[in-house]
Amino acid sequence: MDVTTRIETVRERVDAARAAGKRIGFVPTMGALHAGHVSLMEAAGRRCEYVVVSIFVNPTQFGPNEDFDAYPRDITADRQICESAGVELVFAPGVGDMYPSRNLTWVTVESLTEGLCGRHRRGHFRGVTTVCNKLFNIVRPDAAFFGQKDAQQAIVVKRMVADTNLPLEVAICPTLREADGLAMSSRNVYLSTGERADALLLYRALTKAESMVRQGERNCSQLVSAMRAVMQSGAVVVEYISIVDTETLYDLAEIEDVALIAVAARVGKTRLIDNIVVDLNKPQGAI
Ligand code: AMP
Repeated sequence: MDVTTRIETVRERVDAARAAGKRIGFVPTMGALHAGHVSLMEAAGRRCEYVVVSIFVNPTQFGPNEDFDAYPRDITADRQICESAGVELVFAPGVGDMYPSRNLTWVTVESLTEGLCGRHRRGHFRGVTTVCNKLFNIVRPDAAFFGQKDAQQAIVVKRMVADTNLPLEVAICPTLREADGLAMSSRNVYLSTGERADALLLYRALTKAESMVRQGERNCSQLVSAMRAVMQSGAVVVEYISIVDTETLYDLAEIEDVALIAVAARVGKTRLIDNIVVDLNKPQGAI
């Protein structure tokens, strides 16, 4: 496995792999890798012969009062995880490699970024779509792999790729969870033992909503109230509970057959998000 901070090296390695007839798979991450990230690397490995992982804590997607400085970083452990997952190339640039001068060019996706996390993290998706556009231009993958865990991000990036005619496929992979259901996240390391127990209430609220929908409840206000009650049974400060259309991300009043149910909350100082897709035509929904 090669590890590099240099854009030129990425281009050379990827060009050589492509010249050898290999399909290039790409998994962008911010590091602090866990089994959720590994599942994306494995999905990439099943579909592509050359897998690139980027590890870059992107400053432009963090707000001024967010956790950019505190975000967990462990490049040694991350390298080992990538190596065991069979990754061919790790691109771990510094901020100066990705943003050598003040960034003046931004990629923004409208409408899809207005609700959910976009409403609470102003400028976040502009940073995400800009860095993904840069990374896609550096790596030039055939396919990029994203997690449904960050559903709005995956939908927004997919739209950015379509709207700007980037020649790659965006694949969205299922959320990996701990045995009790907590969605794996790099930010889970921030949680104390008590907070870890309360964090589970996000998933409990989602599964409560899903079972209510499957038992016939279609009214989104009723579903949101029931979810709020579950989350507020512990020390969870709700940021949003939203039931939206999986394509437009507009709020739904009633669920017809498919809906994205998404939550964001603070447990102590840690901001967590989670979601599920309820699809009444299938046992398990996906975006
Ligand atoms: P991050 O390092 O948090 O920016 O995440 C990098 C990629 O991993 C994103 O596409 C995330 O959606 C995905 N990811 C994060 N957590 C999980 C998880 N629990 N299951 C599947 N994918 C995940």
